[in-house]
Amino acid sequence: MISPIEAWVAERTGLNERLSAESLRAWQLARIKETIEYARGRSLFYAGRLAGVDSARIASMEDMEGVPFTWPQDLARDPEALACVPAREIGRIITLSTSGSQGPPKRVFFTERDLERTADFFAHGMSTMMRAGQRALILMSDDSRYGIGDLLRRGLARIGAEGEIHGNVRDVPRAIEAARGSDCLVGVPGEVIYMCRAEPGLRPRSVLLSADYVPESVIDAIRDAWHCDVYTHWGMTETGFGGGVQCRAGSGYHLRDADLYVEVVDWETGRRVEPGQYGEIVVTTLAREAMPLIRYRTGDTARMLAGGCPCGGILPVMDKVVGRRANLIPVDDGGSLSIHLLDEICFKYPGIRNYRAELVRMDGTQVLSLTVDADAGLRHEDFSGYLAGSLGIAAKIQIEYARVEPFAGRSKRRILLAGAPGDDRGAGR
Ligand SMILES: [Zn+2]
Repeated sequence: MISPIEAWVAERTGLNERLSAESLRAWQLARIKETIEYARGRSLFYAGRLAGVDSARIASMEDMEGVPFTWPQDLARDPEALACVPAREIGRIITLSTSGSQGPPKRVFFTERDLERTADFFAHGMSTMMRAGQRALILMSDDSRYGIGDLLRRGLARIGAEGEIHGNVRDVPRAIEAARGSDCLVGVPGEVIYMCRAEPGLRPRSVLLSADYVPESVIDAIRDAWHCDVYTHWGMTETGFGGGVQCRAGSGYHLRDADLYVEVVDWETGRRVEPGQYGEIVVTTLAREAMPLIRYRTGDTARMLAGGCPCGGILPVMDKVVGRRANLIPVDDGGSLSIHLLDEICFKYPGIRNYRAELVRMDGTQVLSLTVDADAGLRHEDFSGYLAGSLGIAAKIQIEYARVEPFAGRSKRRILLAGAPGDDRGAGR
């Protein structure tokens, strides 16, 4: 079955049966030019940043290379300068911590219409895995108006399905009880895998994992234990939460092409890279009212798939996000370590529910210190041997076993670096 996102793109763009990769690009190019004029005319920031851009001379997507990037720092430095509507029209402001800096957080503004578009995308995205009359348990967000949970619930209602907002998993037995009988569980990988290892007997029809990086090991473990389909979603606050979702073929993300234009650029040069090549995801919003983003550097690494999706869709799809470059921590032997690599390795091992990682220096030697939450049957000798063999780094590995709550007061997993707890120099966002 072709991803329902394609029918949504065809309808929202008005291209209908004329939809093709080429007609979509032409349609997006026209929206990009409108967005440039809209943002330049209404925001102080873009009036300056885009001063030298002549949108009449943008004739192809290649010409987009002449349009300056917008950086996460721009959203932290003076977010009001990016606003294109008066404050009274802003329906919601999202504040995000900025990784690796002591500076002010990023802020992103939305109008109610901006968020309605997200609910619309969610409705179609969720129809990949849900039907009318089914029920989803949303293991994230809260039920505040226009929060992710609320938008998902609104989207589900449009396809006749029910969404119940449970919130992030703080109490595992309570979350497991709430999940019984749900057709679909929507959550973040580190929390859903914890539930799965604690209760392999749950039988949802499907699970949707949403994060900047979803470990393959977590997908495999959940699918095997719960005998369900596992889908992943890519999105970030800056994309209006929704960005792209896998179809039943389990390949790349079908993108939110009616609202976003996605490019992949070389990290260093900023030049666009070919499909198949990895780079940084850059997004341009096509209809955002409150805070349009033009060539926004997301920090996420991915590539467009060269061959399209096996579901038979005709639009290009984006491969799974492989992580964030900022998450790579150098290790002494010249290599690097990331929470993503650790997740892949640790969650592949049976019985690992969660862990906490810290990279410290003791007597001049780098030590990777892990606190591991595992099933009682886990044999330390086997696990430590597996870890040393899989990681292949010079750092010494120390393992302790203890309860590590899946929700530890923050939603982004990371490796702590030596220093005070909560030190933000580590690999987070
Ligand atoms: Zn597909």
